[in-house]
Amino acid sequence: MTPGMGLFAAALFGAVIGSFLNVVIYRVPRGQSLVTPPSRCPSCGYRLKWYDNVPIAGWLLLGGRCRTCRAPISMQYPLVELVTALLFMLVVWLTPAGPLLASRLLLVCILIALFGIDLEHQILPNAITLPGIVAGLLLSVIAPPGVRDAAIGVLLGGGVLYGIAGAYYLWRREEGLGMGDVKMLAMIGAFLGWKAVLVTLVLSSFSGALIGVALIAAQRGGMKLALPFGTFLAMGALAAMLVGEPLVAWYAGFFEF
Ligand SMILES: [Zn+2]
Repeated sequence: MTPGMGLFAAALFGAVIGSFLNVVIYRVPRGQSLVTPPSRCPSCGYRLKWYDNVPIAGWLLLGGRCRTCRAPISMQYPLVELVTALLFMLVVWLTPAGPLLASRLLLVCILIALFGIDLEHQILPNAITLPGIVAGLLLSVIAPPGVRDAAIGVLLGGGVLYGIAGAYYLWRREEGLGMGDVKMLAMIGAFLGWKAVLVTLVLSSFSGALIGVALIAAQRGGMKLALPFGTFLAMGALAAMLVGEPLVAWYAGFFEF
């Protein structure tokens, strides 16, 4: 198989997995089963045929509408499939075949699911974060960052955010960060190790603050923003996974003079 064919296969596989992640994003927060019943139109109950379910193409061929009742189908569906396909391609391109590749692809899936669910429902379900911590720790036995770094990552990731959440509560008497964020960063630590926890925290706080300020400026008011932090954690963790090491090396370069 040529490298080009490998990347194409990765994209196809990613699109199919993305289709499943759409089901996860829709059903897990609603407490529904992932296996049954088969996908239906939420408006008219039309049961989707296999050809409606073909990733990206199915949505495009239907023109973004249900085949029978013409109710609009959310853009989220093709977008999640496309993003998963692109990220799978990128990860396969950057990672040699082996346990690390499996671990990274699994983390990509979990992060996309948590991103979508947090954006829509402002929750990060335990049903995903807790098994995620276990999976990350188990994979660290056979893949980088190794058991020691992964265990420290869980403690640091959970500990830092738990501390920040507690301090914020004492200061404002309201919940700024949820326990879902705490468990999510602990899970990121389990997969990527403690150094990546720090990179993730810096990147997600920085981008969160930046986008928050931009939104406040656009609204010209001090409106209270409830941007879910989990979405920034997901993006920060992806960046830490893909470019974390060069980023830290570049940053450290500033202190060499
Ligand atoms: Zn319909």
